[in-house]
Amino acid sequence: MTLASSESPTDSDDSGDLVDDEPQPEVFDAEVRNEDVDRDALKVIRRLRRYGHDAYLVGGGVRDLLLGVRPKDFDIATSARPNEVKTLFRNSRIIGRRFRLAHILFGGGKIIETATFRRDPTEDDDVDPRDEDADLLIRRDNEFGEPWEDARRRDFTINGLFYDSESNEVIDYVGGMRDVRGRVVRTIGQPDVRFREDPVRILRAIKFSARLDLGIDPPAYDAMVAQREELARAARPRLLEEILRLLRGGAAHRSYWLMWEIGALDVLLPQLSFHLDDDSDESRLLWGRLDAIDTLMRAGSLPTDAVLFAALMLGPIEEALDGVKDTTRAYEGLMGDVVETLAVPRRLKERVRTIVQAQRRLRAGKLGALPRREYFDEAATLFSLECHAKGQRRPEWLDERPEASQAAPKRTRRRRRRNRS
Ligand code: ATP
Ligand code: MG
Repeated sequence: MTLASSESPTDSDDSGDLVDDEPQPEVFDAEVRNEDVDRDALKVIRRLRRYGHDAYLVGGGVRDLLLGVRPKDFDIATSARPNEVKTLFRNSRIIGRRFRLAHILFGGGKIIETATFRRDPTEDDDVDPRDEDADLLIRRDNEFGEPWEDARRRDFTINGLFYDSESNEVIDYVGGMRDVRGRVVRTIGQPDVRFREDPVRILRAIKFSARLDLGIDPPAYDAMVAQREELARAARPRLLEEILRLLRGGAAHRSYWLMWEIGALDVLLPQLSFHLDDDSDESRLLWGRLDAIDTLMRAGSLPTDAVLFAALMLGPIEEALDGVKDTTRAYEGLMGDVVETLAVPRRLKERVRTIVQAQRRLRAGKLGALPRREYFDEAATLFSLECHAKGQRRPEWLDERPEASQAAPKRTRRRRRRNRS
């Protein structure tokens, strides 16, 4: 790759704040082959450009391509407004109440998300981010902007790169290319401010570091520790989603170890971090179960949300239920707080309880009518994670289950379960 401009992408004034003048991007020849980019995404970009709009691939797709990882999806940022996108693509629909963007639909359920360049709306606010008591939490996100503003509103430099698929260049307003090469997660702008604006970014930093095996820039790391309590202010469904994503990312062990290390686990799941702090056998079992989840993910088998959540919380749940008569009350006593913090849907909460309670019989090998229960498959998967964690031999019945129920196809299964909850 070559450097085409030496302009600093993150000019700052004396206070270290980003300045608002339109900056010149660094431009790099990308070592990206368009064969690795989704053909439909390229088609969308070509058409937008043909009609006079600016359009780039953005976000996680570009990051993953540059890191040599297969991207999950490709997002597009464009100067076209949502209604202009809609008129250019019959197969599109406009979604979002607060920030409207277009979903362009292709075969096989593929969606190319196409959003108009937007800016950070808080920049106009009369709040001094250096004021430690100022409320910086972002509650709106709906102002259109310029490409450079769109790059800077993003969370981490590695996520702020634009890829121009026509010229094969990476347009970098945020120093992201340097961090892709250095394999480091660094916030765009001041870490404390960016984590206070949206504390879920703390979990996102953990996710990227763990999943992509990247370092965390030390000032960002310190800010994650310093701002971890802010997580309690984030929208609860977003927290649950990130908690589950961290389990599904193929690096659950590393993710939760980081969660614990920075103290985010104390804020989100104190019931679990008490267990770990004891340095008990139970903590070793937890890491073992998370390893087993990572192994399953690598094999292309995605456990359900209930299995994932139960594997995470098995220790505290079993401790709460151990030897008590009124297990319902004991379970509610433990999960009440969890539900409060993470907005766990009732259905998921009940499912977790059912499959955890089935473990006793599975351990005893007394299956009885269990194999005919519709939750058997999930209970058995949890049991197999436990066998792995304990280094125990898998009982025969575990591997005699019908193939299809051991590893259901990824996407369809997850969607169905999500819709139901
Ligand atoms: P993944 O591979 O997990 O999907 P991603 O980076 O694509 O990772 P998305 O949640 O799909 O993550 O978001 C797409 C892009 O939107 C990100 O790359 C980032 O540029 C921007 N973004 C997402 N969430 C935030 C946030 N909380 N704050 C700022 N920018 C964000
Ligand atoms: Mg994405």
